[in-house]
Amino acid sequence: MCSSRRHFIATGVVGSLSLGLEAQEDKEQDSKRATTRTLAGKRPIIISANNGVNYLDEAFSFLKNGGDTLDAALRVVKGPEDDPKDDSVGLGGLPNEEGVVELDACCMHGPTRRAGSVGGVRNIKNVSQVAKAVMEHTGHVMLVGDGAERFAVAHGFARENLLTEHSRKVWLLWKEYHSTDDWWGPGVSDPHWKPPETAPQGELWQERLRKLQQIATDLGIAPENRAHAIRKVLFPPTGTIHSSALNEKGEISGCTTTSGLAFKLPGRVGDSPIIGAGCYTDQDVGSAGATGSGEENIKVAGAHTIVENMRRGMSPQEAGIDALKRIARNHNHDMNKLRFIDMTYYILRKDGAYAGVSLWEGYMPSPWEDPQPKRHKIAVHDGTKRAEETVPLFKGFSQEFPPFPKAPAEYVNQLK
Ligand code: ASP
Repeated sequence: MCSSRRHFIATGVVGSLSLGLEAQEDKEQDSKRATTRTLAGKRPIIISANNGVNYLDEAFSFLKNGGDTLDAALRVVKGPEDDPKDDSVGLGGLPNEEGVVELDACCMHGPTRRAGSVGGVRNIKNVSQVAKAVMEHTGHVMLVGDGAERFAVAHGFARENLLTEHSRKVWLLWKEYHSTDDWWGPGVSDPHWKPPETAPQGELWQERLRKLQQIATDLGIAPENRAHAIRKVLFPPTGTIHSSALNEKGEISGCTTTSGLAFKLPGRVGDSPIIGAGCYTDQDVGSAGATGSGEENIKVAGAHTIVENMRRGMSPQEAGIDALKRIARNHNHDMNKLRFIDMTYYILRKDGAYAGVSLWEGYMPSPWEDPQPKRHKIAVHDGTKRAEETVPLFKGFSQEFPPFPKAPAEYVNQLK
């Protein structure tokens, strides 16, 4: 058992159960955290998932100079969509199980109370902007698949191959390695689902890692990229970006874009393009967006729930923690299930108050990459750019899903 896992058990399961699953609303929150702002915040302001932090400066000055709130949020998410190295969004996103990149996105424009969305789009990089085009140039809200792609091309978006060489090789490694550990079969929501065996299994691990090393070598994955590629296969990543923007006048908008779960079933659409789940903006109240377990978020209509909670008087933090508690309730507070689920909400109220909340404090990266836990963060720009740790419902760190036991350090060290 590696130390990260011990940490999880000590602080996650035991800590959370003993607290009766109450939110960890520490009154003396670490000042680094995005704590509840019951008082109004600053305007203008932009918030986003942390992978948007490098794009906030430019978007903020655009907003400050009178740019539209949705266009400001779209400027933030365009960065990761265009970046081939961000394998969770747009170009270079990890593909579905057939090796095809399928993207989802949605947006809401507060001032005109409009929405647009696209799901399962292939070959078009900036799907958040396609969602905006659906909003502006159709009488519909959502287009999917082939129709969405043809609509994008009609509006001048270029078709391009979104599968980078790196992502293609990671997918091939996954494809050749996996036979049964994929998304087929029932998931954690199934009443008969059993948590996987996570005890160290020495010989099995030796064999698994040897096989992965061999396939990676055969596929021509460069030695310096092999550990990274193997991690993506053992722990298929999630990733997404949400951004909400509020201007001085109090106009507010939001958008979310993603390549969804790596190696998902073709045609799978997550929460990101679902208005009310991956993003929801109401000009009278505020805006919220999500990254994390899409299937869980759809079932609690997370972003809509949060905005409605704020309408009824909850602070951004309280509103988000309530949505997270609904996810925990959907699994009867069973920590054996909840430890495989994670969810982060990015919340902005119309008065500039904001919060970042998450089911867990973060997640443990694979031991051969980085022994430090990765904490969930919200990126904020209100004149000062910063990244703040989210407020977690549970102490501790989630485990990736599909569940695959982490290799003990003695086997992992052989990969270095
Ligand atoms: N929510 C995204 C999805 O389910 C994935 C993620 O945010 O990591 O498609």
